[in-house]
Amino acid sequence: MGIVVQKFGGSSVADAEKLLKVCKHIIKEYNEGNNVAVVVSAQGKTTDRLISEEKEITKKPNKREHDVLVSTGEQITIAKLAMTLQELGYKAISLAGWQIPIITTSEFGNAKIKYVNTKTILDLFEEKYIVIIAGFQGIDEKLNITTFGRGGSDTTAVAVAAALKADKCEIFTDVDGVFSSDPRIVEDVKKLEKVSYDEMLELSSMGAKVLHNRCVEIGKKYNLPIIVKSTFEEQSDGTVVTDSYMEDLTISGVTKDDHIARISVMGLENKIGRTYNVFKLLADNDINVDVIVQSFGENVNKNLSFSIKTSDLEDAVKILNDHINEIGAREIRYFDNLSKISIIGVGIANKTGVAADMFEALYENNINMHMISTSEIKISVLVDREDSNKAVNAIHKKFYDKLNK
Ligand code: ASP
Ligand code: MG
Repeated sequence: MGIVVQKFGGSSVADAEKLLKVCKHIIKEYNEGNNVAVVVSAQGKTTDRLISEEKEITKKPNKREHDVLVSTGEQITIAKLAMTLQELGYKAISLAGWQIPIITTSEFGNAKIKYVNTKTILDLFEEKYIVIIAGFQGIDEKLNITTFGRGGSDTTAVAVAAALKADKCEIFTDVDGVFSSDPRIVEDVKKLEKVSYDEMLELSSMGAKVLHNRCVEIGKKYNLPIIVKSTFEEQSDGTVVTDSYMEDLTISGVTKDDHIARISVMGLENKIGRTYNVFKLLADNDINVDVIVQSFGENVNKNLSFSIKTSDLEDAVKILNDHINEIGAREIRYFDNLSKISIIGVGIANKTGVAADMFEALYENNINMHMISTSEIKISVLVDREDSNKAVNAIHKKFYDKLNK
């Protein structure tokens, strides 16, 4: 007899009929003799609705009250799910974050979990209860209600599973797992059987938002495999996010981010410390810089280009222009027309020719690369935004065609 933690997202619990489907998954584990804890999100678009209602009242909500408001969505779901299970003849009980409690920091809207009190849950297991837990919320040491940021119910589930030393943590959602790219862009995406924690972090930070990043970090820290699978497809094996590999895939996925801008600092004096000054200025203003290219300082001056998020562009340009004399540059240029295309895979660091394959795919499709960056598990290139879908398709095809040969 083991401990199973299951999490159901907003689309899986959207109405009474869907709650019944969810119960099937819960009851199956329970009837096999397991202790089952279930974490749920708010129903459907409830959290969005609460936030838009908040906007009718204020543009700058008090952070504490914001958390009190948005945490209510999950409280509705836990009660309804417990009642649904009770109607089916099962012993079920709902718990809000504070009732467990899940103790967090006081960063409203982005609180971090410090501690999950497992005793409450284990005592209820003793009494044969199915324990239904509100996702996305906890309580700080001063008894304020806190929330974990959008998508944070995943993090509740993995944290609860880690604390309970669960045998299994399943994240049920409306897709059948993690895919090799965005099915809206690429036709023949491949469902990944397994993906490593590090790959998953890269995949989700780049738009394939299947899991809350923080839950992947917790899974990695506690070496807890996370199974992502579909609530509605009967035969769903899903994807296991874990450390080990069955297949020797060179790459796991191709991702894109269409919100990339480039800034060029032109005519920067070729003196030690100049580049540092530029990035220090940006860092002091909380602007995150990604890919950086600096020309050789052969002449008196050099040019420095870097990419940032489109949403930071206006601020960054203003700050640089305000300090243009201080940093010793001639001109600040900018373009808001780029996308970042990345290939993700643990194999990348150890396999030769991966970058060449990626660049070949772009070359064959006449796509110009503006900047390149590489890491242990990722190669990224910046291309014109108008080419981004074509680039993702071309690269995906190149790698998966190869794999199938
Ligand atoms: N209900 C919250 C949200 O919509 C948390 C979650 O669904 O994971 O972001
Ligand atoms: Mg989610």
